[in-house]
Amino acid sequence: MTSAVNPPPPRPATASRTLRSVTDLLAAGLVTPAQVPALEDVARHYATAIPPAFADLIETPDDPIGRQVIPDGAEIHTDTTEDPDPIGDDALSPVPGIVHRYADRALLKPLLVCPLYCRFCFRREHVGPGGSVLDDAALEHALDWLRTHTGIHEVVMTGGDPLMLSARRMRAIMQALEGMDHIHTIRIHSRVPVADPGRLDDEMADALETTRSMWLVVHVNHARELTPQARAAIRRVQARAIPVLGQSVLLRGVNDTPQALEALLRAQVAARIRPYYLHQLDPAPGTARFHVPIREGQRLLASLRGRVTGIAWPTYVLDIPGGHGKVPIAPGYLHEGPDGTLHATAPDGTIHRLARERG
Ligand SMILES: *Cc1c(COP(=O)(O)O)cnc(C)c1O
Ligand code: SF4
Repeated sequence: MTSAVNPPPPRPATASRTLRSVTDLLAAGLVTPAQVPALEDVARHYATAIPPAFADLIETPDDPIGRQVIPDGAEIHTDTTEDPDPIGDDALSPVPGIVHRYADRALLKPLLVCPLYCRFCFRREHVGPGGSVLDDAALEHALDWLRTHTGIHEVVMTGGDPLMLSARRMRAIMQALEGMDHIHTIRIHSRVPVADPGRLDDEMADALETTRSMWLVVHVNHARELTPQARAAIRRVQARAIPVLGQSVLLRGVNDTPQALEALLRAQVAARIRPYYLHQLDPAPGTARFHVPIREGQRLLASLRGRVTGIAWPTYVLDIPGGHGKVPIAPGYLHEGPDGTLHATAPDGTIHRLARERG
């Protein structure tokens, strides 16, 4: 950033509506006039949305909140390690709106709209306001696929963001899923609770009540995202006996220090959110500025081991590029010693021989 040389004007207080265009960003003081031509170029490829609740959290454009949602001219530069479909979802879609990779579960993507557009999103080539909603016929077709695939026991609703549906449409989907005896678990992955908490009102929380085992997974990347309003939205869900999990992406300049990662994990536990996954960034086009190497991610997590409650410890996961699936990539604590027994590394770094464990 050149912000030290060319500081942006002071930010006007409280945006009243979602910022979507380069003009909106300029008026909100989040970008400089010099950035405009490059950003117009980015806007031809990728959507922008910053809801008021999220815009209010931005102190400077390059802070951990701003970096996640303010477009950057670097996004049009891609390199050979990047892929428009980095985890190979497209090839695994038997019908529109369904992605099926693992035997017992399938993704249901009822829409491709999000409350905000993360600049590092692995689905960035697909999501956006133009990506819209599955129409009634397409949704029925996707539900039919689930109805006839009785090996599927869990439906993972994602998108886009399922909580951008109307409560009425959400309820209709819940009722359809409840009519399928083989579906015993429903999971919703969403950024709405932190991005636009008012949207997760009582009516929507009621729509999530189901006889099935329902879980909400909130996508949150920085402790500051868990505002009182966000926590109130999450409480509305928890009050209906729906457990809430957290998922985060390890991101350069957002949560890539021991302090920021610890604060993020602790803020989740304080909001009764169980950290589930810490994702290695997928190599989507134009996202290089967010990359944290896996080895560094492992060292970051290792620095928290023993110091931070086990409830806060997420599984660090990699979605292997090419559609090969997710694997845990946590730091390793076991290695084979010269005598053929296993040795364990303690949280303090000391190494201990496990006399009865062969390598
Ligand atoms: C990530 C993912 C899931 C869910 O995986 P879990 O490890 O159960 O959270 C399911 N289907 C696809 C295609 C996925 O990419
Ligand atoms: S909310 Fe999820 S799907 Fe939407 S832009 Fe962010 S990461 Fe992508």
